[in-house]
Amino acid sequence: MNKTIEKIVSLCKQRGFVYQSSDIYGGFGAVYDYGPLGVELKNNIANLWWKEMTRNHENIVGLDSGILMHPKIWEASGHVGEFHDPLVDCKHCNARYRADELTNDIENEVWQELKCPTCGTTGMMTPPRQFNLMFKTQVGPLEETGSVAYLRPETAQGIYVNYQLVQGSTRMKIPFGIAQIGKAFRNEIIARNFIFRTREFEQMEMQYFTKPGQDDETMNVWKEKRMNFYTDSLGISSENLRFHEHGDNELAHYAKEAWDIEYNFPFGWSEVEGIHNRTDFDLKNHEQFSGKNLKYFDQENNERYLPYIIETSAGLNRMLLTVLSDSYWEDTENNRKVMKFDPKIAPIKAVICPLVKKDGLPEKARAIIEVLKPHFNVLYDQQGSIGKRYYRQDEAGTPFGITVDHQTMDDDTITIRYRDSQKQDRSSLENILKIIQDSLI
Ligand code: ATP
Repeated sequence: MNKTIEKIVSLCKQRGFVYQSSDIYGGFGAVYDYGPLGVELKNNIANLWWKEMTRNHENIVGLDSGILMHPKIWEASGHVGEFHDPLVDCKHCNARYRADELTNDIENEVWQELKCPTCGTTGMMTPPRQFNLMFKTQVGPLEETGSVAYLRPETAQGIYVNYQLVQGSTRMKIPFGIAQIGKAFRNEIIARNFIFRTREFEQMEMQYFTKPGQDDETMNVWKEKRMNFYTDSLGISSENLRFHEHGDNELAHYAKEAWDIEYNFPFGWSEVEGIHNRTDFDLKNHEQFSGKNLKYFDQENNERYLPYIIETSAGLNRMLLTVLSDSYWEDTENNRKVMKFDPKIAPIKAVICPLVKKDGLPEKARAIIEVLKPHFNVLYDQQGSIGKRYYRQDEAGTPFGITVDHQTMDDDTITIRYRDSQKQDRSSLENILKIIQDSLI
């Protein structure tokens, strides 16, 4: 099967997972909207991450901080000074690139020998220009100095500046973590590959506060936990996942050690999540810029120190693209497309179909919906042949099809059809809830 990003984009549009923003105006660069199936899938992934972080770890709690924050935060974090990407233009065809995507060695003037991936001309690239990725905006009605604010480029800083309040109100002892899901904005130079790199996106970040000296060990623990999340919770195939360690020339300004979890997308291996040892870089700078003491007091050992921070940072939209890419399957033998979502994250868990639109079958099907809908998302469908109805739901990734026929009226049994194998079983109505619920654990 030739799995291309174009095929995934097309299915996403047709079935209502993802649309380009402002479609009737010709689109708006690198922003996407999520349709009925997309928003369910996105919420399910976010909920799974949230549950994994907070419910499964007694020492991790949640936070929801604002998108707009004091502008000094971004000076302290280094984003005003350092959050740049190098931009090059091809003088021959005007194509624009991030220089670090074309070479690992921009410092040594190798840009002069770069070949333009668009027109193939060599030696026509402009020298790299640094471009700050933060979106600037203004607070209040007047455009004046002092009114500038930034749309946050990462959610992490909201956690750092609140960490003492969270610790004070929960009385957690180090090590502990704070998790947050929220929008972030980056004025990306080039946005391509669908929802992989967009200007508005959601991050799921967990900042783990640990004692200096225990950071390396903590890093290893989180690397393993995060990789397991992709295979065990999201059901992503392990052969499409790998780690990539950042070399010295890739490390962000705040990081001592950094690992990416990469996925083998149809356009190649690319980062989905970063796990970083940010040391005390951020807290140290916030101490300096705010003039506040941000040290943690360890009562047992009677010592004060700035914690080291291990960060796990994933893009929700990028994780969704990982799920879409991994799930897309063309079942050529049966001439159908299937999204093989793990039932836990499938937007709709079951479709309930009356075989015909008469003889009380629709009413019976609706009665089943009433029983199932308090537990999970189900859909009623009576349009077209049963085969067509099932195929429609295969594209939506619905794992179970339930058909109500005349026998159901006699003995309260239904046919349950499994999406991937297309196997069909006869089962009692009583069992349905349990069969589906068991698949969601
Ligand atoms: P890249 O090298 O791809 O620009 P990054 O290393 O700058 O990413 P981080 O700053 O570590 O990314 O951000 C953490 C995570 O946030 C990334 O792994 C990715 O999943 C997500 N992310 C970052 N930028 C974007 C974006 N523009 N669109 C969608 N997701 C993003």
